Amino acid sequence: MTAPLTGPSTGPLIDGQGRRVKDLRLSITDRCNFRCVYCMPEDGLEWLPRADLLTYEELTRIAAVCVERWSFEAIRITGGEPLVRAHVPDLVAMLAPLGVDIALTTNGVKLPDAAPALAEAGLDRVNVSLDSLCEHTFEELTRASELHRVLAGIDAALEVGLTPVKVNTVVMRGVNDGEIVDLAAFGRDRGVEVRFIEFMPLDAEGGWSRDRVVPAKEIIETVAAAFPVEPVTAVDDGHDEPAARWRYLDGKGFVGAIPSVTEPFCGRCDRVRVTAEGKFRSCLFALDEYDLRAVLRAGGTDDDLAAVIETAVAAKWPGHKIGRIDFIRPSRSMSQIGG
Ligand code: SAM
Ligand code: SF4
Repeated sequence: MTAPLTGPSTGPLIDGQGRRVKDLRLSITDRCNFRCVYCMPEDGLEWLPRADLLTYEELTRIAAVCVERWSFEAIRITGGEPLVRAHVPDLVAMLAPLGVDIALTTNGVKLPDAAPALAEAGLDRVNVSLDSLCEHTFEELTRASELHRVLAGIDAALEVGLTPVKVNTVVMRGVNDGEIVDLAAFGRDRGVEVRFIEFMPLDAEGGWSRDRVVPAKEIIETVAAAFPVEPVTAVDDGHDEPAARWRYLDGKGFVGAIPSVTEPFCGRCDRVRVTAEGKFRSCLFALDEYDLRAVLRAGGTDDDLAAVIETAVAAKWPGHKIGRIDFIRPSRSMSQIGG
């Protein structure tokens, strides 16, 4: 898999808008053991047949092309719920030699059992989704009564050093917006960075509406009223993150907010995604997908894979159009795309 003398470019991968692409999100399953209201319908979705999923070897090959050819810096394993797929530590062990930051986004339920093997295999850190500390609200949002397991999962991740642990919290107006301060306090106490996410129109049931979005600005003002903060500037932050970050003035860590709807960070977007069945997407909201599985299973070379990725990235658009009249909702939910 060394760089070829001819064929697709090497060096940084630059998209059609001049942005460097360096963060690869690999979805490894569309299945999930939760049914979060902002993501999946109560009855689940029609799952992909097992044979349609990329194998760990295929996923690793795509990752190797991205890292070795274009020096991608980060790989994120996601889903659906990635930990419902068997042997995830094997995948981590296959990706680890690439030498880039490897993180996993999970609902946390299986983390109490999985954390030690994941750390052992070379996973760097985890992002755990946690929308409420109240059993009732947690169940209303996830349609699962597993709050205690998720909390145990966060503890397990901290214990085995899958750090910094970040907590993702989707805030929905009238559902969990009353818990912003409690969740921030939880993050401060446990030494984890809570990142509040604006509710995006990627739910399978089409229940999104603008009035259910709590703007990141309002979220941070609410946090700051309880625990004073100062913004982290790009200079001392030093890395591209969609989350705007703030530092608690008393030194008890950081808090983030991801303003995808109200202040999209598309101008700084450095990520691309591969769905569980091997479709390459240059944006969460992209309408076009490029079939990497077809290339892989037709015996394509690394150059062939790279050529498809370059075509997709060249066509990456400047940004999504949520809130505009010409916004077109993707036909797939967050769990099917890979969040
Ligand atoms: N199952 C794992 C989890 O929940 O962490 C990983 C996949 S999930 C699709 C990835 C992230 O997307 C989660 O943090 C989840 O809260 C977020 N998410 C899902 N649907 C969303 C939506 N409609 N708006 C904003 N965030 C969403
Ligand atoms: Fe599952 Fe994650 Fe979607 Fe919730 S957000 S339904 S845990 S994939």
